[in-house]
Amino acid sequence: MTTECLFCQIAEGTTPSDIVYQDNATIAFRDINPQAPTHVLIIPREHIESFHHVRDAQLWYAILQTAHKVAEQEGISGGYRIVSNVGTAAGQSVEHVHIHLLGGRQMSWPPG
Ligand code: AMP
Repeated sequence: MTTECLFCQIAEGTTPSDIVYQDNATIAFRDINPQAPTHVLIIPREHIESFHHVRDAQLWYAILQTAHKVAEQEGISGGYRIVSNVGTAAGQSVEHVHIHLLGGRQMSWPPG
């Protein structure tokens, strides 16, 4: 936990969010600026800067499991996109590792 990190604050409950799933290791909440009918962010409770800094395979698996559960819960398991932006070049704006889970519309490729 770092007090200045927005997603740590969401994990602690000191900043409100629309949580759709949580367990001991992870939290999933709706993105405040959704880019698809379903746009959920999945984070670990532990503060880790980005995907590139994740060293704990069990924790990464827990994050992916949460994405899987939320996709089922949201009714988009037939087609969705998961993405994790790393660093400013990829557009990462919050330095706490997160997966975007997007679905509910036709996706295009390549991403911007
Ligand atoms: P990224 O740009 O990949 O780091 O993704 C960060 C995401 O966090 C963006 O899609 C933002 O819309 C989202 N976001 C920022 N603040 C909040 C918030 N308070 N609650 C939910 N999502 C947020």
